[in-house]
Order: sequence, then structure tokens, then C-alpha cells
Amino acid sequence: MMRHSAAHVMAEAVLSIFPGTKFGIGPAIENGFYYDFELPRSLNPDDLPLIESRMAEIIASDTPFIKEVIDKKEARQLFAEQPYKLELIDEIPDEKVSLFRQGSFVDLCRGPHVDTTGKIGAFKLISIAGAYWRGDEHHPMLQRIYGVAFDTKEALAKHLEELDEAAKRDHRKLGRELDLFSIHEEAGPGLVHWHPKGAVIRRVIEDFWKDEHVKRGYDIVYTPHIAKLDLWRTSGHWEFYRDYLYTPMEIEGQEYIVKPMNCLGHILMYKTKLHSYRELPIRYAELGTVYRYERSGVLHGLSRVRGFTQDDAHIFCRFDQLENEVVGVLDLALFMVDTFGFTDYQLLLSTRPEKYAGTIQVWDEATKTLSQALSRLNLDYTVDPGEGVFYGPKIDIKFKDTLGRGWQGPTIQIDFNLPQRFDVTYVGEDGREHSVAMVHRTVLGSMERFLASLIEHYGGAFPMWLAPVQVVVIPVADRNLDYAYKLEAELKSEGVRIKVDARSERMNLKIRQAQLDKVPYMLVVGDNEVASSTVSVRLRSGEHVSSLLLESFKETLRRIITTKVRDLKL
Ligand SMILES: [Zn+2]
Ligand SMILES: [Zn+2]
Repeated sequence: MMRHSAAHVMAEAVLSIFPGTKFGIGPAIENGFYYDFELPRSLNPDDLPLIESRMAEIIASDTPFIKEVIDKKEARQLFAEQPYKLELIDEIPDEKVSLFRQGSFVDLCRGPHVDTTGKIGAFKLISIAGAYWRGDEHHPMLQRIYGVAFDTKEALAKHLEELDEAAKRDHRKLGRELDLFSIHEEAGPGLVHWHPKGAVIRRVIEDFWKDEHVKRGYDIVYTPHIAKLDLWRTSGHWEFYRDYLYTPMEIEGQEYIVKPMNCLGHILMYKTKLHSYRELPIRYAELGTVYRYERSGVLHGLSRVRGFTQDDAHIFCRFDQLENEVVGVLDLALFMVDTFGFTDYQLLLSTRPEKYAGTIQVWDEATKTLSQALSRLNLDYTVDPGEGVFYGPKIDIKFKDTLGRGWQGPTIQIDFNLPQRFDVTYVGEDGREHSVAMVHRTVLGSMERFLASLIEHYGGAFPMWLAPVQVVVIPVADRNLDYAYKLEAELKSEGVRIKVDARSERMNLKIRQAQLDKVPYMLVVGDNEVASSTVSVRLRSGEHVSSLLLESFKETLRRIITTKVRDLKL
């Protein structure tokens, strides 16, 4: 109530500064509020303090919020100059509409509100964004001002501090500063270009991912990026998810689309021959790049994109193997999440929605299988009733980052739909064909979103095994360069990602640069180090560790890299 009241006060303040302002909507949101305006000019951040001070005056005046109920006809006259409000009035089913007044300002509103403007607590306007009227790109673009509001100054200060920390860790900002990736208007929004340093992180993750999957009985496969539309008609994707699919292209009189998921390729491969019950489970894993249409308004850095690489796999098994398979996936998923340093997570079991494929009996059995698998691993979970996808129940793992924000992580999904639509079977002990149990699963989500979570979790200071550059050698003087290059060659041959900063800059400046690049180790080498075959080690935190013999430094690096430990103690 207080936050929504602040939105009204902001609208009044904006109107007093920009007469003729047209108003969209101004709801309360988590931690604050926003209001959408059509204004005579573009706002810039310098406008916010002025709006804030007008708001402070209105709040100090302690003006009452007064509710009025009037006829629609009267309301249309009152808001004759407000096209967006007129549109809203037309949609109200009742003949009467309600208004709220504070002083001379009046807004169309159901309420409720606080009694007087003085009841609004501590607030701050934090950002300006463009927002299409009703979120639709065919409608005019309005200007949205976001604010936050809390009961006390202390609570506001705490929240602003958290926002500040989140802004410092924003993966779009760090992605640019650390030269990890870019997205180009010329190439299209939501399409990610991985720069060499971002690509190093991705390659390390992919190598680790592939090795771990092979160890756990998966076969790595590759499937094409486009496929005939008919395939997606058979699967039901064309019918159910058409809004997310790109327009078909025609090739030799046949329609094709870029793939939105990898499942169908894996099904076609499975079906190239008959499978006996003894061969199951079959697990196909693919780092498969898929494309889905997302409105430009919802795209966000790496976390909401139009093209992304899923760390995907499909398991084809017998129903009596399903529980073991789910246990295996859960174990792998938690191992992955933990290895990357996310120690706090939440498990959700989503059950049958209103519209569903298959019978209630198979749903109940599959849901029971999922919960038994969770119990076998002693995992606590929350049931999310009715939140399953229409084709089967699922388990989602949401992990939390350093700031306690949740990220969509692994999902394990049972599918009753595709095996039936594509007639995916195996030959049982009885010599007859039986429908397989099919599991879709991902343990990281997508490479793009996972990198976003890693960047924000670590604030760009990646653990040693993921860092694009692990060691920078900083020679004190030019005469120490030979020794620096010798170190580089030796460590490189051990697989360490190392660089020599040979620029003729001051040593402190080079140290500063390596810290900004968040390189885990700096080796400062001067005459003493050359003479004694040692290295003087500094951490990106600024801490100077000690002088170490080159051999013992190498030994430590090996240990840190192979065990993927996250702390950098030497
Ligand atoms: Zn209101
Ligand atoms: Zn799938």
C-alpha cells in the first residue's frame, strides 16, 4: 500500500515538472514501485533528484488520499487528455470507476492507499527504463521510473547497499570490463558472441562437463541446427510452442526451422535400430545450441537470450530403471552445482498441471518415482503443485549466489508425450515392444545463463580452475624479462594459462591492471627472484603471499587446478 502510494506521489511530482504528462500505470512491485509516463522529452538520471525533492515536499505536506467513485462517463471527461487512462476505463466492466485524489492530483485507481502522503516511508528513485505500453512492441514506448521504498531509513539504506553490490557484480558490466562476451545490435539482440576470455571459461566448463558425463555412462552426440518443420509438428512443439519458434525457411520445397530443442534429434538416433531391454538405459548428451524467440523487451545480457547452448541429455530407459536414473542425474547435478561453488540450493518437485498428457496413473507413478529418488539421497524438497509441464512431472534445482539470489539450475523432466508421439520403444524380455521412459535433463541450464550466474556469484573473480588468465608474470625491470619468459614457457607446458606483462609501465600499474582483470596470481620477478629461482606471489586481493621456490609454486598450482578448490591459499 505504501509503495503504491509512493507511485501516485511520484506521478504528481512528474506532472508538476512536466505539464501535459500522459500517464500509463503505476503499480507496487517487490521492494518498490514504478510508473510509466509519456513525456515531452527523454528523461536522464539528472532528472531524478528533482522529482525526488518534489516527492519529499508532497510527503511532508501529509496530504490525505481520498477515494471517490464516479460514473464512467464522468471519468472519461475527467481523463479526456489521458489516452492510456481512457483505454483502461473502457476495460473496467463496472459502470462506476474509483479514483484516488491527493491534493489537486487525481488518478484512476482501485486502491487501497495509505491514509496520507506522510505515511510513505523512506524512498529513492533508482532508474529510468523504456517500457512499451502494455509490454507490447506495437504500442508506444513510455518512460518508466523505478523507485524503492521502505518503512525505515535503515531498511532503505540496507537495500541500496545490496543493489550497489548487485550492480558491481552485474554480468553485463563485468562481461564488458573483463572482455568475456558481447552482444551486437548489428547481429541481432539476444545473440551472444563469446570473446577469447569468455570462451576459455566455456571450454573449461565444457571439457569438465563432457569428461564427467562420459565417466557416468553418457554418450556424447551432435545433432544438426535445423530440421524439417514436420518433425516439430509430430512432436507437438509447432502446436504448443509456436510463439517461441522462428519462422520456417524453405529448402527445396520443404519447410525447415532452426531447432528450439535437442530432443527430437536424439529420438531419431535412438530409433535407427531396435533396442533390447538389456541395452537400456541409453543416455545421449549434447551441448546443443538452440534458438527460441523471446521478445526484445525481456532479453537480459546472458541470462535471457535468443540463442543458447543447453547442456542437454536424454535418457531412454525402462520404467523399472527410472528411479535409479533420476538418482544418478540428481547426484550428477548436485556434484556440478557444488563443484562450481554454489553451496546453497533449493529443490522443487512439480506435479501434474490441469492440462496433461498421459494418464493420472502414469503421472502418479512417475511423481512417486521422483520423490523416492529425492528421499534416497536424503534431499529436502518442496512440492510445487500443478507446476509440472503438460508432458510430465519434473524436479528443478534453484541455486543461490553469494548475494542470496536464486538462479534456475538443473532440471530433470519425465516425458510421457514424445515417446508416444514418436513411438519410441524397446523389446522387452517377453519379446514384445514396450514404450520407453524418457527423461530430459540439464545440469547447468545453458552455457549462457550459467556463465551469467558464475560472473555474478564470483563478482568476476573466478576460481583458479576457471580463470581465463591464471597467472600474470610482472618483471620489475627489462633485464628480468628473460626469466619472466622462462617462467611463462615452463608453466604453459604444464597447462597453466599464463601471460607476461612486458609493457614498459611501472610495476605498480601492472599489478593494478592484473587486479582489475581479476587474475588469481601475480608473480613479481626482480633480480632477487632471478638469482634465487623463486617467485614473489601476490593475490588479486592485494595480499602479498610470500616468495616461493618455483618448484613449490608449480606443485601448488597443480593441486589447485586438479582439485578445483576455490580458495587461493598457498
Ligand atoms: Zn493507486
Ligand atoms: Zn529434451
